[in-house]
Amino acid sequence: MGKQKHQPIRTCVVCHAERPKRELIRIVRTKDGVRIDPTGKLAGRGAYICPKPDCWRLDVAVPKLQRALKTMLTAEEKEMLAEFAETLLAPSDTVQD
Ligand SMILES: [Zn+2]
Repeated sequence: MGKQKHQPIRTCVVCHAERPKRELIRIVRTKDGVRIDPTGKLAGRGAYICPKPDCWRLDVAVPKLQRALKTMLTAEEKEMLAEFAETLLAPSDTVQD
């Protein structure tokens, strides 16, 4: 008999899909600014976004993040998010025959 593990569910701030926390990307507002938090362990107010490019279109995602995190993102932070978004655009399934 194993212990039944409760899987925490979080909601994507962009598309409102509910997913297990570990399947979402956590963005956290720390005292040093907004960070992407792959470990899920940084202290601060957090927001979650799906790891899919559609949820990382910054014109849509930035206002929702700002509302969720109750802060304005700096140009630098937006750039960091843009760079992260690019890593989600896996070239493998965009190849066309
Ligand atoms: Zn989403």
